[in-house]
Amino acid sequence: MNLHEFQAKGLLRTYGVPVPDGGVASTASDALRVAKELKGEAWVLKVQVHAGGRGKAGGVKVVKSFSEVYDEATQMIGMKIVTKQTGPEGKIARRILVEQATDIKKEIYLSFLVDRDSEQCMIIASAEGGMEIEEVAKNNPTAVVKELINPVTGMGLFLGRKIAKGIGLDSSLLNKFADVAHKLYECFIDHDCMMLEINPLVVTGDGDILCLDAKMAVDENALYRHSKIEEMKDYGELEPQEVRASIFDLSYVSMDGNIGCMVNGAGLAMATMDIIKSFNGEPANFLDVGGGADVNKVREAFKIILTDPKVKVIFVNIFGGIVRCDLIAKGVLTASDEVPSDRHIVVRLDGTNVEEGRRILNEGAEKSGLNIVTCDTMADAAQKAVRLAAGEPLEEVKKSPTKSAARKGGAK
Ligand code: GDP
Ligand code: MN
Repeated sequence: MNLHEFQAKGLLRTYGVPVPDGGVASTASDALRVAKELKGEAWVLKVQVHAGGRGKAGGVKVVKSFSEVYDEATQMIGMKIVTKQTGPEGKIARRILVEQATDIKKEIYLSFLVDRDSEQCMIIASAEGGMEIEEVAKNNPTAVVKELINPVTGMGLFLGRKIAKGIGLDSSLLNKFADVAHKLYECFIDHDCMMLEINPLVVTGDGDILCLDAKMAVDENALYRHSKIEEMKDYGELEPQEVRASIFDLSYVSMDGNIGCMVNGAGLAMATMDIIKSFNGEPANFLDVGGGADVNKVREAFKIILTDPKVKVIFVNIFGGIVRCDLIAKGVLTASDEVPSDRHIVVRLDGTNVEEGRRILNEGAEKSGLNIVTCDTMADAAQKAVRLAAGEPLEEVKKSPTKSAARKGGAK
């Protein structure tokens, strides 16, 4: 789960991490009030969306008078911001953060993340702050310093000083940097973060260190022990499908392709993505209905896919174990009643009550005119889904032959 910059900074403040003074605003007059409460002669206005690269996209403005605060805030609140990380559709900025402007002498990159290879937390720093770290790593890899953090000793001050030296900080800043890094790490660990990125961490004109930006991602699976963080979830940042999935406790990730997938079990869901890819198709989502799903949950899962405008073909790939195939079939039919669609539904069912499941589906399809294509194997189903998504009509797709009907010679 991603946090907004103002939320992350609020948490950091409680750890004694230096962040600029500021407040969040959802109207221009709010923004003006916040600016008046802050000391100083210049302010920075920053759109609050879950995406970096706001600076380049007009989402960060330094202003020097109250009238500018008001005018810029009017422009920024409600604006659509398009950055590399938002995708071409962009994001609507519902709120802005109003902060006291900082006199920046130097911008540094600093982040903490969980490194899967070493199974440890890692600190990454670079003297080239303010830029995307991926770019720096590519063009100037020696400018990036990385250290693993021993889980027992934590982010000791010695390690902080080593990093500070490694990125060429002035010796007068080594202890200040190490102190901030230590506090950031405490916050990172305490909240089960997957990532905490400060880009830029700046050295101010007065020689202080300040976190000018903050990007924090908390492990969803740990939210049960961070109720305060869970309350910070901004449903406005999620796609409607993701919101519905979270209400019904479905494991759902939206992707860019056009083949909607409904699968049970994380392993099968991943295998489904792989097989679609191997036939040169693109999945529109990862959706695991889970082991103990009932008809309602299956119905909701299927509706999530049906209401996704980028989905051209639906691929249902279920191995009935605890979730029986007949129950899946019923869920698919009720959802299709509620959200009518003429998209092809490629179904590969196997396992418990498979014959019953197929019968229910085919009878239901006949009645309501659904375009159901039943397949026996995963490879066959994936291939058909990919061809249909590419707009290639399949001869055998026009009717929906069941395994038994095909055996009787009813369809080819
Ligand atoms: P991002 O582009 O979404 O990562 O947003 P940032 O918060 O990192 O801001 C982008 C850039 O705006 C920073 O790298 C700074 O150069 C600039 N910036 C942000 N806040 C201030 C400020 O208080 N004063 C000045 N002079 N520049 C700022
Ligand atoms: Mn930034």
